[in-house]
Amino acid sequence: MTAAAMAAVACAACSMETPEVGRLGRLHVAPAENVEMFSLRRGETFGELLHGTISANEQAALLLAFQEHASPRRMREGTEITLRYLKGEEAVRRIDVALSPDETVRLSREPLGWGSELIETPIYVDTMFASGEIESELWTAVVMNPALSTMPAADRNEMIHHLDQVFQWQVDFYRQIQSGDTYRFVVEREVRPDGSMRSARLLAAELVNADEPFHAIWFDPNGDGQGSYFDLEGESVRRSFLLKPLEFRRISSYFTNSRRHPILNTWRSHRGVDYAAAAGTEVMATADGVVIQRGPDGGYGNSVQVRHANGWVTRYAHLRGFRSGVVVGTRVRQGEVIGYVGQTGLATGPHLHYEMLQSGRFVDPLSVDLPAGDPVPSDDRMRWLEESGVRVALLDGIPPSGPVRTLLVDAEPVEAEATTTATTPRLQ
Ligand SMILES: [Zn+2]
Repeated sequence: MTAAAMAAVACAACSMETPEVGRLGRLHVAPAENVEMFSLRRGETFGELLHGTISANEQAALLLAFQEHASPRRMREGTEITLRYLKGEEAVRRIDVALSPDETVRLSREPLGWGSELIETPIYVDTMFASGEIESELWTAVVMNPALSTMPAADRNEMIHHLDQVFQWQVDFYRQIQSGDTYRFVVEREVRPDGSMRSARLLAAELVNADEPFHAIWFDPNGDGQGSYFDLEGESVRRSFLLKPLEFRRISSYFTNSRRHPILNTWRSHRGVDYAAAAGTEVMATADGVVIQRGPDGGYGNSVQVRHANGWVTRYAHLRGFRSGVVVGTRVRQGEVIGYVGQTGLATGPHLHYEMLQSGRFVDPLSVDLPAGDPVPSDDRMRWLEESGVRVALLDGIPPSGPVRTLLVDAEPVEAEATTTATTPRLQ
């Protein structure tokens, strides 16, 4: 390109843009208001924070206005409070109290006191696609996935939690994941303007473990958010027992018939599974049942035993403590917290010792064949075929994973997205 031609191009650009810029005037306009931000300190009240800024009389009116939308008790340590003043004015014009990432109470000075309104943080719904290859463990592969780097760390953790929830019966993320395993998932999210998620639901996920693919496809026949996950054949991914009584954790000791006991220092069988976990980690009942023992029990330390249907009993040992209200006779649901990891009894460090017995015989919780949950009801079969087809197509639209690679699509998703959005109930 000649210099003349370049000048012509530049001029064309000038003639289009310069007048616009000209009308804008100064680029830097001094803010029309002064803003002060505070974070409520431990034990500090709203009134204390406003002391010296707002008179005691006005504070009463302010609190009344606030109470139209929320209890002052919701103002806890760390609550962000923003004060705005008009330039050159002494008096506060507006106060924003951020109750949560989703709700702010806005207090505004009015001619006769204070008015208030509740402002909800706007959200948008998107569909996110991710895939990758696992080098060592799933947690690292997802959290360190460079394509997810714009996602807040807490949200990346949340994604692993979701994957763990849907695949918990098929694959033990710590024990079974191998180098070269791959994952793909499609997730529908509610996202705030700052990029953080308000909620997320996996629509479809695939985990290829040792060349064996596992699928979990969300299906909610009634559209009430009470759906469930099924494999490609419409069989439930759920089992009547959770595979493990706590979330994705390291297993420190497997079920064996003979091993050296770390404290007794003698060979004895270990008829359970030990999960190393931080003291205080929540321990869940692995199936619906009734508590038949709760309290100290010799080497088990603080222990809970739960009786389930068909002669099954589970035991949770070395607990630091029990969830309040859990006593002998309490009915518990699958996944309900019953106690907290500790190291009571014969334990060298904080861990959970978990046992399963059927008709009084010990079984290995990691290899027992657990009864399956219900498949897609036959009445819903047509809907299932339709909806799962769309979701599987979404999954298949994700490019094959390379070494930890992810595709994040929002502007131009695969063709099927429009259909998905139409048929997918909004997150509940
Ligand atoms: Zn143990």
